[in-house]
Amino acid sequence: MSDQSTDKMWLSLTNDEQEAVSALQQEMGLDSPDAVMHALLRQAAQRALVVCPSCGHSARKTADDAASCAECMSVLHLSDGLWQVITLQP
Ligand SMILES: [Zn+2]
Repeated sequence: MSDQSTDKMWLSLTNDEQEAVSALQQEMGLDSPDAVMHALLRQAAQRALVVCPSCGHSARKTADDAASCAECMSVLHLSDGLWQVITLQP
C-alpha cells in the first residue's frame, strides 16, 4: 500500500500542476514544493471547517451545503453563504 506522503502527491501532479505549484512556491516564499502542498492542504482543511452559529464550536461538513455540530448536535445548512441552524437538538 502507498502512504499518503505529499512527495507522492507532488509526483502525481501533471506538468501544468507542477508548474502552478512552483509558481505558488515563489509567490508564497516557501522552501519547497512539498511546503506548498502542505499549505494547500491546510487551506483546504480550513475551507472544510464550519463554525457552528449556535455554539461557536467547529462543525463537521457532511455535504457541500450541510454540516453537523458534534458539540450541540445542531444540523446546519449553508444558505446565501451563511451557515444557519436548521435543527437544534435539545
Ligand atoms: Zn454547535
